[in-house]
Amino acid sequence: MNPDDTIVAISTAAGDAARAIVRLSGPEAIALAGRVFAGSDGADIQTLPGFRRVDGIVSFGGGENHISDLSVSSVAVVLPSAAYVFRGPRSFTRQDVVELHIPGSSVAAGALQAALESLGARRAQAGEFTARAFFSGRLDLSAAEAVADVIDAADDAQLRCATAALGGRVARLCADAAGEATDVLALVEASIDFAEEGIELAQPADAGGRLTALAGRLEELAVAAADMPENFRTPHVVMCGLPNAGKSSLLNALAGSERAIVSPIAGTTRDVLSAQIVLEGVGLVTLQDAAGFTADDDTMSQAANAAAQAAVRAADVVLLVGDVQDVLSADYADCRDFKTLLARVRETNPRACTLVLWNKADLLAGGVATGGQAADSRLDVTEACLSALFEDEQTMGNASVLLTSAVTGQGLDELRKELAKRLGLEVSRSGQALGLHRRQKDSFLQAAQAARRGATLLLESTTLADAAELVAIELRDTLAHLGQVSGQAVTEDVLGRIFSRFCVGK
Ligand code: GDP
Repeated sequence: MNPDDTIVAISTAAGDAARAIVRLSGPEAIALAGRVFAGSDGADIQTLPGFRRVDGIVSFGGGENHISDLSVSSVAVVLPSAAYVFRGPRSFTRQDVVELHIPGSSVAAGALQAALESLGARRAQAGEFTARAFFSGRLDLSAAEAVADVIDAADDAQLRCATAALGGRVARLCADAAGEATDVLALVEASIDFAEEGIELAQPADAGGRLTALAGRLEELAVAAADMPENFRTPHVVMCGLPNAGKSSLLNALAGSERAIVSPIAGTTRDVLSAQIVLEGVGLVTLQDAAGFTADDDTMSQAANAAAQAAVRAADVVLLVGDVQDVLSADYADCRDFKTLLARVRETNPRACTLVLWNKADLLAGGVATGGQAADSRLDVTEACLSALFEDEQTMGNASVLLTSAVTGQGLDELRKELAKRLGLEVSRSGQALGLHRRQKDSFLQAAQAARRGATLLLESTTLADAAELVAIELRDTLAHLGQVSGQAVTEDVLGRIFSRFCVGK
């Protein structure tokens, strides 16, 4: 990624919207934009100072157009537009940046991007604008990562963590810790020179105490911070169960009650019904009905079975749905089919946790299952449901059992809460939310360990100078690990991994 190229990308999401934005960054950004944009009252963006918006038109394509060398379109495209000009270094990337805002058509945005490419701009790679902001020192690495976290946040708690990091919260914590480590390092290094003159700059116990406190703070931070999701694949919740247990009804109740079906996912195998839904308190999840996953392999076509198997294998949580009337009826007490199904789920995906939903709870009028044995309280029903399936806690493993009704909505709030818990999506709700990625937590912990090793060396020596050289090594290690979070000492492959998470245009 040559930072001196002028890059171009569509920075708005695909699909129709009020506006589409095509963004340029680099030394030629303003010149290139000027070749497709004309200000309405003769304003020339070449001479505009930074931080200006000017209305006008973009035009490209067509033989008679002033850009005659374009092969993008044989018909001239003329669109009302606004140009936003940010001159470096007062811009996101610290280079010249121009945004062309046009009517929100993906086709028009694509054609404008192609036009700018034919004029010499290079199409930006994923995250390249943010990478430029990082490399120019505009953002530290934790804030740069937070740009993607803000975009990908699945719920308000994650969004709060991400905006805090974008606002510099993680950067400040890192800078404070690095400042303290640097202070002690300076003291320790100076002690070597001063020792020759017989001057003690500080007691080793005091310096050691500072490092112990620093290590404690870093460890506390790493442990207390919520986990930011690593890959932004939405969690997969997969339903399977016996026919007619109410899987589709539950899927509709969960999706419909939130009025938030984002989209049925294109490209999923026809036999696995799939919807992306926003669950209150849980965030965005992919909910699938793997009806083809049955207790025996022969009931469905092989294709349906394979699709259902794949869905269960990829699930984070499996919802195993049964009809509560069955579990309470005398002749069904051994739940044989259901147990077989549970065993198959666990064999197919031992990693996923299983929530057993005994559905149609509304039919337990007065606590009595129609046609089945009496159960005079909800507790009894739950107990009966539990003991029918699991002999003891060990066989229960990480499963839990809930009573639900797709008709009345009973148990669905509990189900949402349980899902949030199982998917690890319960981020602290406090305004102080701190979220860290696994890699950042590890770096804080390793920085803490190095500081602690330095502290031990200091506490064991009688003068600062005695331990100075070894302590300095540990403190440089502390700083290096903190640098993995701030970006001051980060390796290229880590940077590559971080920026590849971004979408193009950001
Ligand atoms: P699936 O085969 O597991 O997808 O089951 P469906 O969702 O198609 O439901 C089978 C039947 O049970 C339908 O007639 C539903 O209306 C009914 N049903 C589903 N859930 C409930 C429930 O919670 N209570 C009651 N009373 N009926 C339900």
